[in-house]
Amino acid sequence: MNFIIATNNEHKLKELERILSPLGINAKSPKELGISLGDVEENGETFADNAYLKAYAACGRSGLPAIADDSGLCVDALGGRPGVFSARYDGENATDRDKIKKLLKELDGVPSQERTARFVCSVCCVFPNRDKITAEGKCEGKIALEPDGNGGFGYDPVFLYNGVSFGRLTAEKKDSVSHRGNALREFREVLKVYLEEKNVNK
Ligand code: IMP
Repeated sequence: MNFIIATNNEHKLKELERILSPLGINAKSPKELGISLGDVEENGETFADNAYLKAYAACGRSGLPAIADDSGLCVDALGGRPGVFSARYDGENATDRDKIKKLLKELDGVPSQERTARFVCSVCCVFPNRDKITAEGKCEGKIALEPDGNGGFGYDPVFLYNGVSFGRLTAEKKDSVSHRGNALREFREVLKVYLEEKNVNK
C-alpha cells in the first residue's frame, strides 16, 4: 500500500522516510507523486490537531492514505512554549539560528537543572475512507547553554539528550531515541492492527 508523507520540510521528510521504510511502509513524498500540498493552516491547539489537519488535507489532494507529523519543543521554564508554535517561534520567516538565539535569550540566567524540555511528535494517518490512526512520541532532555554540533535540524544543536546535543548524534542514534522515532515505532504497531482489522494487504 502506498502512502503520501504530508510534509514539505526536507529534513522531516528524510527522517520520516528513513524510519518508515524499514517498517515496510511504502511512503512517497509529495514531490515523487507530483502533488502540491498547498498551504494548510496549522491552527490546532495541540500537536495531534495539527497533524490531523495536515494529513486530512494531503489525503484529500492525493487520494492516498496520508501520514503527517506535527512536532515541537516544549520548555518547562517557558510554561511549555514554544510548543505548537515551534516553527513560528520567531516569526514566519525566521531561520533555525534565529529561533535558537531567541530561545537562549529567553532562558538567559535559567540554571541547568531548570532547563528541562521535551520534543513531542504527533503522527496521524488519514485514509481515503476518512478513518484515522494516531500515535505520539516524546523525548526528554535539557536546553543547552549554547549550540553544539551541526547535525539534524531545527532546535537540535541546543537540545541535550543525556547531556549530549542532538546536533552531535548520528542520524541512526537520533532516530533510536527521538520523539519522531518513538512516535513512528508506536505508529507502526497501530497501523499493523488497523490493516489486520481491515484485512488490507500491505
Ligand atoms: P511543524 O511540525 O512543521 O509545525 O514544525 C515543528 C518545528 O519544531 C520545526 O520547524 C522545528 O523547529 C521543531 N522541531 C520538530 N522536530 C524537531 C527535531 O527533531 N529537531 C529539532 N527541531 C525540531
